[in-house]
Amino acid sequence: MKLSKLYTKTSKSIPSDESANNARLLIQAGFIHKEMAGVYSYLPLGKIVLDKISEIVRQEMNKIGALEVQMSVLQPRDIWEKTDRWDDKKVDNWFKTKLNNGQDLGIGLTHEEPIVDSLIGFINSYKDLPVYVYQIQNKFRNELRAKSGLLRGREFLMKDLYSFSLNKEDHQQYYDEVLLAYYKIYEKLGIGDDTYRTYADGGIFSSSFSDEFQTLSEVGEDLIYLDKKNKIAINKEIYNPENLKKIGLKESELEPHKAIEVGNTFSLGSKYTDQLGLYYTDNNGQKKSIVMGCYGIGISRLMGVIAEKFSDDLGLIWPINIAPAKIYLISVSQDQKTQAKTQKLYDLLTQKCIDVIYDDRDIRIGEKFADADLLGIPIRAIISSKHGEQEVAVKQRTEKTEKIIKYIDLINLVK
Ligand code: ATP
Ligand code: MG
Repeated sequence: MKLSKLYTKTSKSIPSDESANNARLLIQAGFIHKEMAGVYSYLPLGKIVLDKISEIVRQEMNKIGALEVQMSVLQPRDIWEKTDRWDDKKVDNWFKTKLNNGQDLGIGLTHEEPIVDSLIGFINSYKDLPVYVYQIQNKFRNELRAKSGLLRGREFLMKDLYSFSLNKEDHQQYYDEVLLAYYKIYEKLGIGDDTYRTYADGGIFSSSFSDEFQTLSEVGEDLIYLDKKNKIAINKEIYNPENLKKIGLKESELEPHKAIEVGNTFSLGSKYTDQLGLYYTDNNGQKKSIVMGCYGIGISRLMGVIAEKFSDDLGLIWPINIAPAKIYLISVSQDQKTQAKTQKLYDLLTQKCIDVIYDDRDIRIGEKFADADLLGIPIRAIISSKHGEQEVAVKQRTEKTEKIIKYIDLINLVK
């Protein structure tokens, strides 16, 4: 990407109508545009980051045998009445609308009911199970407080996975596989060290716990009690002597921390499948209930969490796997020879499939340095006629000093 072709610009000032640090930084750097409280659009650089996060999640979902679908956002009322979740008294953050003929519609806030309904007709016998489906899609929730930028949106991107198993044992086995996939995802996103499996409320139809993945952050809305040594935590919501004992946690080894929920996993039993009439027949011809699980990851929230956690006075600091580009390329002067040399390195990096932003704008070099920092690109590479033919001055976003290295070493550094 050449910066002269990018229509978004960085801004010198911090947006005054935004209180959340993640959104401030992202708006200032031109990654997102605020439409209204809790509603953001993703501009070219923001869209690249969002897609990279999605792709990491998608790969891990595919590895555990899940199939990707895209369910509709508009949903009919009747399937939600079957599970008693249509009523505003039961679920209070629905956006709802009507067709011209008066028929009620819901605007997707989650998809258990539609997913189950879509399987009717396909699942009949034990031979048709298990089924694992997921999607990466915008969800809509009329959140009361939407003051945390991307951390709590009224429209936000979520990955939701649903599992359908023959029995509890099969369900549990898959549930554990999902937990492992989640650990891998947070690791790849650069927040593995700060993200903890956290025991949480199992919900009304489960006597056991659900699991949340909580990332430590001072701006988090959740409070968790963390056993750092064993890398396990319990949410304050269920913190009591009885639960500590059940889980095997010792009060003396727990420290309270603020945290942000970046994902969760739920065992749903057969509540939804039974109520919507999705069953299978076993090998004796007996009608049996299906055991369901659901597993969420907040994709756009993760972008906010990462922006919030990894930044300094100069701007964003993206982990290399999800940065909009790995290298920010600058020519030290506008003379033809140096520019030609810079273009050559740009072509070489592009050929090696390394995402690079080439700042080819005719502006002061100090402004380019400032933008490289504000955008949070992991490696800054500067071409000068002073250096050898195959040499470039490289500085990492988190380091103070520059090093002159060979092109091949730059490529190795990225890889
Ligand atoms: P929370 O407890 O934060 O309100 P939740 O428990 O309602 O979230 P789910 O409905 O299970 O969350 O959604 C799955 C994931 O989607 C959550 O773990 C979170 O990462 C993300 N998420 C939930 N609500 C929002 C939101 N309003 N904005 C952005 N991400 C969200
Ligand atoms: Mg929650």
